[in-house]
Amino acid sequence: MEKRILIKNARAIVTCDAADQVFYDTDMLIEGPQIIQMGKNLSSQDAEVIDGRDKFVYPGLINTHHHFFQTFVRNLMTIDYPNMLVVEWLDKIYRIFQKVDSEVIYYSSLAAMGDLLKHGCTCAFDHQYCYTSASGKLLVDRQMEAAAQLGIRYHAGRGTNTLPRSKGSTIPDEMLETTDEFISDCERLIDLYHDPAPFSMHQIVVAPCQPINSYIETFQESVALAKGKRCTPAYPSWRGRKHHYAGALEEANA
Ligand SMILES: [Zn+2]
Repeated sequence: MEKRILIKNARAIVTCDAADQVFYDTDMLIEGPQIIQMGKNLSSQDAEVIDGRDKFVYPGLINTHHHFFQTFVRNLMTIDYPNMLVVEWLDKIYRIFQKVDSEVIYYSSLAAMGDLLKHGCTCAFDHQYCYTSASGKLLVDRQMEAAAQLGIRYHAGRGTNTLPRSKGSTIPDEMLETTDEFISDCERLIDLYHDPAPFSMHQIVVAPCQPINSYIETFQESVALAKGKRCTPAYPSWRGRKHHYAGALEEANA
């Protein structure tokens, strides 16, 4: 039997269910990753008992969009460029992002995930797209290492940029990958880490960057790969090229 935890007499159990129910002075029995019972006067042999008096119990929060690596460049006035449009800002900031390496990814992920956990988040999605010859390909691997150390449920968005600046993107050439390179690394990551089962602790999301910075084939092949491997493709919704790509993506997704 998996480990059991019994929370006794929680001041409030906030369920966040469809009826928004809150239970007062109630017990909760947990087995492994699952809540198996709630009610008054529960007991269970061999369970670790936590005294819940004066404590609130609520579901772990979910962070649906993050860029962990930016934790180390946030609020630096030298590179924050506060009065720019997003596209102008991207053009500047990507020149900084191209210096990110696997150590930056590991430690910024550890800092960002630790901060999320501290504030009640137990499941996070990150979008990471800084792949250069210096960074190598093992960046999601470093993030998985950090997530396992902290015990957070982690969904890794493996990003990429494939369109060169000469074709209108904002990406330095050093940060480009080919669609083939990207797809084959996604396959490697999915085979290694993707677990779609209930209570899964890690999943892979195939997540090329915004349409101004990647070829349309990158998106089409991402959708095909994700469908074949039972994982999620992240759809871009960047204004400007959204409508240009919408038809092709629908076709790939059909
Ligand atoms: Zn973002």
